[in-house]
Amino acid sequence: MEAHTASLATIIRAAHFAARAHAAQRRKGEAGEPYVNHLLEVAELLATHGAPPEAIIAGLLHDTVEDTEVTEAELAREFGPVIAAIVLEATDDQALPKEIRKANQVRHAPAKSAEAKRVKLADKISNLRAIAATPPTGWNHARRVEYVGWAGRVAAGLKGVNPALDAAFEATYRATMARLAAEE
Ligand code: ZN
Repeated sequence: MEAHTASLATIIRAAHFAARAHAAQRRKGEAGEPYVNHLLEVAELLATHGAPPEAIIAGLLHDTVEDTEVTEAELAREFGPVIAAIVLEATDDQALPKEIRKANQVRHAPAKSAEAKRVKLADKISNLRAIAATPPTGWNHARRVEYVGWAGRVAAGLKGVNPALDAAFEATYRATMARLAAEE
């Protein structure tokens, strides 16, 4: 197979793998979208902002280890150790309390690999869009503002790898904050 055909096949295989792994899950937002919509949005953000195939593939798989039964070993077997390592970098340690996990994301962001930075930045863009368009039920205004502020602090440590993605985050962050401010 030609190189681009091989990576296209792997990208589609990763999308199918992620769709099956997250089949029973929906997004937290009140629209209750299928979870795979988030993964496809992240992959699209990466692809349209010039990220390499490894980042797009890891983007599709980035929530599998955190949110499903899929293990790092399984990812390594299916997609190779490079992809598995990027996904692991984008995975929070579920043994830690939520507030510690959130603080760690801010602290650890600058030390992530270039591909993990791209994936995490696209993930934050997708999550900010969701907070603006279809916020999780039960999240009041203050909680949404706090979330957007935290996402901005994580993103500060992820920037510098992919200027187009950095600009997309910045635009999304401003639009989301403006929308929340207008709600008050
Ligand atoms: Zn995600």
